[in-house]
Amino acid sequence: MYNWSEFIGKRYKCQCGHIHECDIQHIVVEKNALIKIVSYIKTASYNGICIIADKNTEKAAATKLYEILEQNNIVYTKYVFSENELVPDEIAVGKIITHLAKKCELLIGIGSGVINDLCKFISYTLKIDYFIVATAPSMDGYASDGAALIIDNLKTTYEKVGRPKAIIADTSILKNAPMHLITAGIGDIFGKYICLTDWQLSHIITGEYYCQKLVDIMNKAVLAVTDAANEGIIQRNEKAIGSVMEGLILAGIDMSYSGNSRPASGSEHHMSHYWEMIFLQQGHEGVHHGTKVGVGTIISLMLYKKLAEKLKLTTTFPQKHFNKSTWIANIKNVYGKAAPGVIALEEYAQKNDDAKVATRLSNIKKYKNNIINLAEKLPNISKLIELMRKINAPYHPAQIGVTEEMVKNAIIYAKELRNRYGILQLLFDCGWQEEFANEICHELNAMNKS
Ligand SMILES: [Zn+2]
Ligand SMILES: [Zn+2]
Repeated sequence: MYNWSEFIGKRYKCQCGHIHECDIQHIVVEKNALIKIVSYIKTASYNGICIIADKNTEKAAATKLYEILEQNNIVYTKYVFSENELVPDEIAVGKIITHLAKKCELLIGIGSGVINDLCKFISYTLKIDYFIVATAPSMDGYASDGAALIIDNLKTTYEKVGRPKAIIADTSILKNAPMHLITAGIGDIFGKYICLTDWQLSHIITGEYYCQKLVDIMNKAVLAVTDAANEGIIQRNEKAIGSVMEGLILAGIDMSYSGNSRPASGSEHHMSHYWEMIFLQQGHEGVHHGTKVGVGTIISLMLYKKLAEKLKLTTTFPQKHFNKSTWIANIKNVYGKAAPGVIALEEYAQKNDDAKVATRLSNIKKYKNNIINLAEKLPNISKLIELMRKINAPYHPAQIGVTEEMVKNAIIYAKELRNRYGILQLLFDCGWQEEFANEICHELNAMNKS
């Protein structure tokens, strides 16, 4: 169990030269934590409280909260979504705003990813505080200041939209969360192996800012969640599920400190986002975010392993010319409706520009051994797959409806979604994208058959 006061309500200058801050006032992860909400509300003297839930989270936690508030003479209004599958889009945002009481000083969101993102966004837009009562340890956005919504049918991440004033994680509620949401949370954390390595890779090759303290915090979260996954998750052990939640909150705090998602999102997330876009164009979101991240993690681990082998054998790195018109045609082909945004990002960031690639390529050559070391420090793929199998978390793309073509496209084009250096951009720099994509698909096919 963490002493959260070590992490929150702080603003300090770090050895890395940056200011790290996280203005969350209360975090509680324990059995019967829900009762603590009474003192949090009374201390801040909120007038006008509105509870936001959906029909599942109302059953899981809101009903209990209504009772607690009534017993303590705390007046509230509520809005409960009746949708079977709530989507965090303009309609959902509009519904909450329409149903808010005139005088609302505090929103209490009851749920996980979707409700948290909606409340975070509305709290920021209307400048009212929000608390989140977590119903599942399913993702790491509880303590971060980014919100992912679907606007104009496109997944849109709003950065720096604030954090909840309180995170209430009652383990007696969390232990009953659907198992696929719990394993999604674990998948989101396994992704940190890759994104932390991508960050170090970028630090070496591009000289990007890097903070060891933030990496240490994230590693702490990864370790705690890996231990929990090994022990007690499948039996719904309350302590193990609480540990997953703690790891996810800590990861969110780390993003708050960083001011962006750098310590929490790398190539594995880019692949997951790419697949999600394709699924959305087919009219559904596919499996839960963290589940896709888990699969992206296994593919990224395979790429890093292959990279280490290839680098050991390579002495010359010839540079290929970036053919922009061919690239644009390919982006239109693989991104469909989302292509204009991807092309605009390249116009702005010019990450594939020949001169930039040449500079990075000379650093790849110069720091070849450092890169091999980084790749070799990553966890053993078979062991991680074994652990994912143990908790019934998908690890193979075929298990989540991701086709071979989607794997190939993700390895080659998912990097175009963000201007964030990682192994996928390194493969572009070296001209190894197609070769690696083909070999990985071959290995995945063999794995599927075994
Ligand atoms: Zn720092
Ligand atoms: Zn994530």
